[in-house]
Amino acid sequence: METEPKTNLLDLDRKGLIAFFAGMGEPAFRSTQVLKWIYVRGVRDFGAMTDLSKDLRARLSQSADIVLPEVVREQRSGDGSHKWLLRMPDGNSIETVFIPEEDRGTLCVSSQVGCTLNCSFCSTAQQGFNRNLTTGEIIGQVLLAAESLGQMTSECRIISNVVMMGMGEPLLNYDNVVAAMNLMLDDFAFGLSKRRVTLSTAGIIPGIERLRRDCDVSLAVSLHAPEDQLRNELVPLNRKYPIKELLAACKRYVGEGRRRVTFEYVMLAGINDSDTHARQLVRCLRGVPAKVNLIPFNPFPQTGYTCSSPERLAAFHRILVSAGLVTLTRKTRGDDIDAACGQLAGQFRDRTQRRERRLAQSRTDIQ
Ligand code: SAH
Repeated sequence: METEPKTNLLDLDRKGLIAFFAGMGEPAFRSTQVLKWIYVRGVRDFGAMTDLSKDLRARLSQSADIVLPEVVREQRSGDGSHKWLLRMPDGNSIETVFIPEEDRGTLCVSSQVGCTLNCSFCSTAQQGFNRNLTTGEIIGQVLLAAESLGQMTSECRIISNVVMMGMGEPLLNYDNVVAAMNLMLDDFAFGLSKRRVTLSTAGIIPGIERLRRDCDVSLAVSLHAPEDQLRNELVPLNRKYPIKELLAACKRYVGEGRRRVTFEYVMLAGINDSDTHARQLVRCLRGVPAKVNLIPFNPFPQTGYTCSSPERLAAFHRILVSAGLVTLTRKTRGDDIDAACGQLAGQFRDRTQRRERRLAQSRTDIQ
């Protein structure tokens, strides 16, 4: 007789758990009990969930399990950053990074195995795309990191912020990402405030609209260029969702309140970093509640780009600040373990064969 596949409880947010327990004839508050066992106490053995009846524990072991990705390697950078290489049951692997700062600890979480967007300056793009991560694989990154950093055994909150800025485009894996973020925010799971969970997108406008209604966490947008022609080159998605419409969606997202959208801008020498670009950026963000994060470009093998010089970066930064834009230049962290922005790669079979095409192309270039 075929047995039904078990439900991985990490795939379910509170709503999902309530429906799951309803299917077993159990009341909604079972979801709170189980969330606490998994995310607050770090327990994965149903037998140890002592506030559930013995009968329910036995039925749960029959129909459900709690499966996390496997940690293949953990690296620690000289600056205190951590990077985990995680392997999924199908053999694909992804990376998760923790960045400690004085007043916070930020976990950078991946949403897909690879990415479909092909941004010209990103190493994940060079690897191609394999598949979306499940909700369990997304929230599993937070759970594994919290355990490995000792958060589950002490009272203190080591991971105070989560950014969906690892591999992949989170808004192209919408349902699983939103369910995982619901768990980050749930009082009986990780209990983070909406301010402390940030989703970063290359600019999927319909996804931004949906997110505003479903789970309005902090929004970051990878802008990288102040006008469409250049942005088409750097972020090809811009051809579908150009800057003006993207910024209108950003304004709607934050509404009239005090929130701002963070605009990420990677500094590429001689490409997007002149004084003229800075002034264009100021004009383009006029009227948008914005913060700008300047990101020094992190090189990787086979990239044609280099990072702007510190002087250029400082000059660009100054122009934005003197025009009244809140601007931060991001410190490069974890680059000694390839954990910096755009350096996350993982290992997987690329379904798009982008990598092979690129290698073939570079071979013909050499000949
Ligand atoms: N797809 C989403 C999530 C990825 S976030 C997005 O585009 O926002 C990763 C961030 O790092 C993005 O802002 C991305 O543009 C930036 N990035 C990618 N490659 C980089 C590199 N080589 N150096 C610095 N930043 C990079």
